Amino acid sequence: MFSKKAVIATLAAAGLLGASALTLDVDIRLKDSQANAATSSSSAWSRTKPYPMQEVYYPGTETLGANEMRVIACGTGMPQPRLKQAAACFVVELGNGDKFIFDMGEGSFERIMALGIPLDQLDKVFLGHLHLDHAGDFPAFYFTGPVNNRLTPLRLWGPSGVRPEWGTETWAAKMQEQWAWEKAGRGSAVDPRGLELEVNEFDWMAVNNVIYDERGVTIRTLPAIHLDQSVSFLLDWNGLRFAFSSDTLPNKWWREHATGADLSIHECFIPPQMMMDRYGMTPSEAVMVGTQGHTAAQAFGKIMSLTEPKHAVCYHFQNDFDTQIVVAEEIRKTYDGPLDLAIDFMTWNVTKSGVRTRMAVPNHESFPAPPQMTKQPPDSMKAYKWTEFSLSGVEPESAAVTNALIEAFNKRNGTDVKPGLTGLPFKK
Ligand SMILES: [Zn+2]
Ligand SMILES: [Zn+2]
Repeated sequence: MFSKKAVIATLAAAGLLGASALTLDVDIRLKDSQANAATSSSSAWSRTKPYPMQEVYYPGTETLGANEMRVIACGTGMPQPRLKQAAACFVVELGNGDKFIFDMGEGSFERIMALGIPLDQLDKVFLGHLHLDHAGDFPAFYFTGPVNNRLTPLRLWGPSGVRPEWGTETWAAKMQEQWAWEKAGRGSAVDPRGLELEVNEFDWMAVNNVIYDERGVTIRTLPAIHLDQSVSFLLDWNGLRFAFSSDTLPNKWWREHATGADLSIHECFIPPQMMMDRYGMTPSEAVMVGTQGHTAAQAFGKIMSLTEPKHAVCYHFQNDFDTQIVVAEEIRKTYDGPLDLAIDFMTWNVTKSGVRTRMAVPNHESFPAPPQMTKQPPDSMKAYKWTEFSLSGVEPESAAVTNALIEAFNKRNGTDVKPGLTGLPFKK
């Protein structure tokens, strides 16, 4: 095999998209098993009590330790959409109660919702750059947050642009303009607080630049080498460091400042030959994209050897039974430390004593978590006005059925909800 250490295939949780992730760190897994066995009530397995070993993470069932960090992959894939992997997104939860989202690529919003975390608690988003596979789900997350019971303003951090119109501030302003109708319609029907957006644009070229410093949590940026105006992030809290590359070539700033991180998540691509086969790329496209615009697997291994994280994670490739062997072989030519090949819903519990890797079991049939605060009525001044044209098209006999339903609803619930549209034809 490709590792000096034993290779253990992570068990795919029931119905978990056929996940086939590899975890290449037998030492930590053995430690976990022993720890779990020690906390069980009896060394003998009961036929009716919970089994002593639980190698999956069920979201919403575990208390996060006061000194613990939990990171969940909500997107590990590519710009090419696929069911198994959304594009880049990692949720970081801290023992002080803070939660952060790093990157929000296409498809990641539904992964986040499958964790059941109330959206009020996910009010901080950090974008490493504005490619669709790192920012594409942000508009959906922002605009439909209030529909999903986010009642607090959303806070966004993103890089400045080489040109002002390419920066995060303009991007967020244009996004609001582009979705003006969505905002007008949606905004007039929900608690308005969730539609407030705080935009924090920072200098993409600043090195080790503090962009966030609250409640003992510091987040810094490093310039990334990825078509300019891209950054990587370092989160420090309670003596733990989380490093996230977003997209970048291995660079001197990462080497200097990300060294020794507890959990180091860095992008990594499949080899150019494979990109030609799988994507239909020309040789020059494959070499350019796979080694210049992004980090080749061997180069990922090299930068991990140079920066010696306690635990390394590679992401940003289609992680399948055939690609993962190739990627791991490439990485093992230059790095032999602890390593995970990330797949969606991979979860890391990070403490001073080490990193535990498991797969989370997502809820495939999730509804929004209940609102955490009392809802405020929508802003009546911003109420959306339907055109007479639409109102004139309501079919009267169906409207009578709907009105009867509303009447019954009011009776059952002791309410007095007025049928705003279907009542109209009968008011005349
Ligand atoms: Zn990118
Ligand atoms: Zn990317």
